[in-house]
Amino acid sequence: MTLEEIIRAIRCPRCGHEQTLQAQDVVETLTVGTTVVQVPVRAGVCSFCGEHVFDVVAADKIDAIIREVRSGNTNHLVAVGQVYRAS
Ligand SMILES: [Zn+2]
Repeated sequence: MTLEEIIRAIRCPRCGHEQTLQAQDVVETLTVGTTVVQVPVRAGVCSFCGEHVFDVVAADKIDAIIREVRSGNTNHLVAVGQVYRAS
Protein backbone atom coordinates (compact mmCIF):
# COMPACT_ATOMS: atom_id res chain seq x y z
CA MET A 1 0.00 0.00 0.00
CA THR A 2 1.12 3.53 -0.63
CA LEU A 3 1.41 5.92 2.29
CA GLU A 4 -1.77 7.69 1.21
CA GLU A 5 -3.67 4.38 1.12
CA ILE A 6 -2.37 3.43 4.56
CA ILE A 7 -3.35 6.68 6.24
CA ARG A 8 -6.84 6.47 4.77
CA ALA A 9 -7.29 2.82 5.82
CA ILE A 10 -6.03 2.69 9.41
CA ARG A 11 -6.54 4.36 12.76
CA CYS A 12 -3.51 5.76 14.50
CA PRO A 13 -1.79 2.68 15.98
CA ARG A 14 -0.79 4.60 19.12
CA CYS A 15 -3.88 6.61 20.14
CA GLY A 16 -6.57 4.91 18.07
CA HIS A 17 -8.02 8.10 16.62
CA GLU A 18 -9.46 8.02 13.10
CA GLN A 19 -8.69 10.49 10.31
CA THR A 20 -5.78 12.05 12.20
CA LEU A 21 -2.91 10.75 10.03
CA GLN A 22 -1.52 13.15 7.42
CA ALA A 23 1.36 12.60 5.00
CA GLN A 24 4.33 14.80 5.87
CA ASP A 25 8.05 14.97 5.23
CA VAL A 26 9.75 14.20 8.54
CA VAL A 27 13.27 13.50 9.74
CA GLU A 28 13.52 10.31 11.77
CA THR A 29 16.35 10.25 14.27
CA LEU A 30 17.72 6.72 14.63
CA THR A 31 20.09 5.67 17.38
CA VAL A 32 22.21 2.65 16.46
CA GLY A 33 24.48 1.88 19.39
CA THR A 34 26.29 5.18 19.96
CA THR A 35 25.67 6.38 16.39
CA VAL A 36 22.84 8.79 15.64
CA VAL A 37 21.51 9.07 12.07
CA GLN A 38 18.89 11.47 10.75
CA VAL A 39 16.80 9.95 7.95
CA PRO A 40 14.42 12.10 5.88
CA VAL A 41 11.30 10.10 5.01
CA ARG A 42 7.67 10.69 4.11
CA ALA A 43 5.44 9.44 6.92
CA GLY A 44 1.90 9.55 8.18
CA VAL A 45 1.92 11.85 11.19
CA CYS A 46 -0.93 11.75 13.73
CA SER A 47 -2.23 15.24 14.44
CA PHE A 48 -3.47 14.06 17.85
CA CYS A 49 -0.50 12.19 19.37
CA GLY A 50 2.39 12.77 16.93
CA GLU A 51 2.85 9.09 16.04
CA HIS A 52 4.73 8.41 12.79
CA VAL A 53 3.41 5.66 10.50
CA PHE A 54 5.60 4.38 7.67
CA ASP A 55 4.89 2.72 4.36
CA VAL A 56 7.13 -0.04 2.98
CA VAL A 57 9.34 2.46 1.16
CA ALA A 58 10.14 4.45 4.30
CA ALA A 59 10.45 1.35 6.50
CA ASP A 60 12.86 -0.27 4.01
CA LYS A 61 14.95 2.92 3.85
CA ILE A 62 15.19 3.05 7.65
CA ASP A 63 16.00 -0.67 7.94
CA ALA A 64 18.69 -0.41 5.25
CA ILE A 65 20.39 2.49 7.02
CA ILE A 66 20.31 0.65 10.36
CA ARG A 67 21.95 -2.38 8.69
CA GLU A 68 24.58 -0.19 7.03
CA VAL A 69 25.48 1.60 10.25
CA ARG A 70 25.69 -1.71 12.13
CA SER A 71 28.09 -3.06 9.48
CA GLY A 72 30.22 0.10 9.64
CA ASN A 73 29.19 1.29 6.17
CA THR A 74 28.78 5.01 6.85
CA ASN A 75 30.87 6.50 4.03
CA HIS A 76 27.77 7.71 2.17
CA LEU A 77 26.38 9.50 5.23
CA VAL A 78 27.07 13.19 5.83
CA ALA A 79 28.22 14.33 9.27
CA VAL A 80 25.91 17.06 10.53
CA GLY A 81 26.94 17.41 14.16
CA GLN A 82 28.32 15.64 17.18
CA VAL A 83 26.76 13.67 19.99
CA TYR A 84 27.91 14.37 23.53
CA ARG A 85 27.22 12.62 26.79
CA ALA A 86 27.29 14.50 30.06
CA SER A 87 28.49 12.74 33.18
ZN1 LIG B 1 -2.28 9.17 17.32
